[in-house]
Amino acid sequence: MTFSALGLSDELVRAVTERGYTEPTPVQAQAIPVVLSGGDLLAGAQTGTGKTAGFTLPILQRLTASAKPVTGKAPIRALVLIPTRELAVQVEESVRDYGKYLKLTSMTMIGGVNINPQIQRLKSRVDILVATPGRLLDHLQQKTLDLSHIEILVLDEADRMLDMGFIRDIKKILAILPRQRQNLLFSATFSDEIKNLADGLLNKPAMIEVARHNATAELITQKIYPVDRERKRELLTHLIKEYNWHQVLVFTRTKHGANKLAEQLNKDDIPALAIHGNKSQAARTRALAEFKTGKLQVLVATDIAARGIDIIELPHVVNFEMPNVSEDYVHRIGRTGRAGSEGEASSLVCIDEHKLLHDIERLTKSEIPVVQVPGFEPDPRIKAEPILNGQNRGQGGGRGQGQGRGGQGQARTRAAPRTGSGPSRTNAAGKPAARAPASHRSGGYNR
Ligand code: AMP
Repeated sequence: MTFSALGLSDELVRAVTERGYTEPTPVQAQAIPVVLSGGDLLAGAQTGTGKTAGFTLPILQRLTASAKPVTGKAPIRALVLIPTRELAVQVEESVRDYGKYLKLTSMTMIGGVNINPQIQRLKSRVDILVATPGRLLDHLQQKTLDLSHIEILVLDEADRMLDMGFIRDIKKILAILPRQRQNLLFSATFSDEIKNLADGLLNKPAMIEVARHNATAELITQKIYPVDRERKRELLTHLIKEYNWHQVLVFTRTKHGANKLAEQLNKDDIPALAIHGNKSQAARTRALAEFKTGKLQVLVATDIAARGIDIIELPHVVNFEMPNVSEDYVHRIGRTGRAGSEGEASSLVCIDEHKLLHDIERLTKSEIPVVQVPGFEPDPRIKAEPILNGQNRGQGGGRGQGQGRGGQGQARTRAAPRTGSGPSRTNAAGKPAARAPASHRSGGYNR
């Protein structure tokens, strides 16, 4: 399968070839013909599958094909709504890059930066607008934005938008768009809320669902490092120094945890910065830029802040704390081993997190190998405590009495017999595979 065989123009094929893509990913192979035909689309695809090009390429082609000569200011014709600022910046970069041999123009509209340059930019031609919902509404309120000629709407990472509480904003935006338009909805998961949104938005959509990125299974080496709650930072420093890890993306559950960890790593002489929603856009962009060039060794992020990070060949992802929502584990580790390169996803798991680990393994239908670092064996006297600030409050406690300590002093894998009553798999058998509704999923998080 080639990009030309999908019906893309020479200009677009040239741009993707220069970017190093030799063949379409599964989501691209399925989405591109649908979008080119003008139909609505409901796509189950997460970051890392190549979905951005899946909608960007055919949109560029459609807008070029139907471009009318305009006198005066041309209207905005395509709107791409994105949950996070970083991702919006990256999507718009992709629009420009894929469209570099075409005459279309694009713009990023995000919060956290001065609105005036955006108002100025809107006075000249914008064909494709890539926006986060909040700032877009600011512009609408100030009447600096006209969306009355939108022909194509994309809701990217719709599940994240709902998790982040954007549903009302989205509804307000939908209400002012022209009724006649093409709609594309991308989501990694399909809760009832997403289904409702899709029902109200899409007109006889084609439905595609691509498997989670192949890389998850094939190119990402996953490891569990059992450790006591209070010794996680010490173990992380040990691993980074011992194995000389660079470009390490570390996940914490909370903003406070991210800040604290970054500070502590700096004290251990490991250059680290935290990014999360409380940081200014400028600070986030700077941290990301330094991380991408390798100047910054560790970036500590919360799930939402990390959502838009796309660094090819990111070698290490660390779950400093296990996510409360199992799907987030898949998103997190999807940051490594991307686009064909190998990566390592390491999880530091303390006794409080056995239940979370168990849920993740059930979701991913895999058993993640356990590696015990000598000197960091969990103290069997330490009891599980409930995880505060998370939905597992009251559930995490009393689940286990300690991780088995097989093969003391050397790496052991799951094949080793487990002692104690840690995250036993057999306990899980027969339990219904429940997935928390979206409305609960972000509850209690301080992300
Ligand atoms: P996305 O899911 O859109 O965030 O894309 C994930 C990563 O895959 C990005 O780094 C893209 O540059 C890359 N990518 C997208 N399409 C292809 C392709 N056809 N071949 C190789 N890499 C790709």
